[in-house]
Amino acid sequence: MSHTNLHVKIEKLICQGTGYCVRLEPEIFTMGNDGLGEVLIERPDESYEETLEEAATLCPTRAITY
Ligand code: SF4
Repeated sequence: MSHTNLHVKIEKLICQGTGYCVRLEPEIFTMGNDGLGEVLIERPDESYEETLEEAATLCPTRAITY
């Protein structure tokens, strides 16, 4: 089993539901019933690191950490 240091989180208190993260990487992010971003895979493998960096930068409220 490969080990991953990634731990993806969305801070719901500051997410504004823009959906940019979901459009960028629907394997990891989705929209919840509350209209806010939600994490599908909290510990993806390292190959997602670049995409996560992009998502964190793209998120207008900086709600994504990984
Ligand atoms: S890009 Fe940021 S603000 Fe937009 S849905 Fe994703 S986490 Fe929320």
